[in-house]
Amino acid sequence: MLIHEQAKIYRVKLPMPFELDHINCYAIKGKNGWSLVDCGLNDEPSFVLWQEFMKVNGIAPRDINGIYLTHSHIDHCELAARLQQLTGAQVYMSALEAESQERFRNVSRSGQFSELLLKNDVPLVLISKLEEVWGEDLIPEQEMPVLLIIGHGDKVLLGDLEYSVMLTPGHADGHLCFYNAKLGILFSGDNILPEISPNISLWPWSRPNPLNDYLESLELCRDLYCNLVLPAHGEPFSNLAERISVLEETHKEKLDLIKSFVVEETTVYKLVLQIYGDKLDMINLGLAIGEVYAHLMFLCNKGEIQLSEKEGKQFFRLPKPLV
Ligand SMILES: [Zn+2]
Repeated sequence: MLIHEQAKIYRVKLPMPFELDHINCYAIKGKNGWSLVDCGLNDEPSFVLWQEFMKVNGIAPRDINGIYLTHSHIDHCELAARLQQLTGAQVYMSALEAESQERFRNVSRSGQFSELLLKNDVPLVLISKLEEVWGEDLIPEQEMPVLLIIGHGDKVLLGDLEYSVMLTPGHADGHLCFYNAKLGILFSGDNILPEISPNISLWPWSRPNPLNDYLESLELCRDLYCNLVLPAHGEPFSNLAERISVLEETHKEKLDLIKSFVVEETTVYKLVLQIYGDKLDMINLGLAIGEVYAHLMFLCNKGEIQLSEKEGKQFFRLPKPLV
């Protein structure tokens, strides 16, 4: 579907088996070929939809010459290797995301993932279930494309227009957005979504304070001249600054909620139960643990909560008042 006539941007909506339902990828037409932003899961429905899109628009495989990945989560990049084999396109990603795939695997394999869960008071029976889901299903052995590295401040051609590469960490350490100032177009990836707040989690493989990274990334985008935000999930939108304020407010409310529960010494897992209950499936439980942990560490860094370790577990409490 053509979504911006002047910039020649097409939205390619691909199905997803998870709760998210779909991912938006984008194809941009240029005089010398097509560029793609994100490319979907490596499954038959996604591959067939790309082939149909190419057929309908008269695109030969060799016409696709660049695939730009916002980050390394599988819904954004898993199909990249197969599309690269089909088209010969160059595939671009940030250095941190290119590394993180490998780091993610090594960390979960080396047991640091279960160590983190144990440290956060997650019961043993749940640790093995979480490991099963997070260790295998979410990290399938996938073929990686040959990657070229891009970073903050680089200029890339999407179609015939130049876009600035913006490093926007938080949801993923090396998350990238692509911005054209002339027309006010922002490919926002998972950094800014219209309806949901992207998951911000602290994991052994991530930077130490992802919520702070995320709030800084939002700040970086707030004053952009912007007419069209093209997100990876949900409908394109235009009210960028307003949406950023809502996302900031959402995190502020979550920080306040967490602080209100830290009346006495507590742990990440106890807080997850208080906030989300005990009915979460293993995917959402993993995300909830990561998210609560990220918010707690943000508060610890601000000195609003104190962290202590006892017998291999981490405990959080309000700081003792100065006498
Ligand atoms: Zn993501």
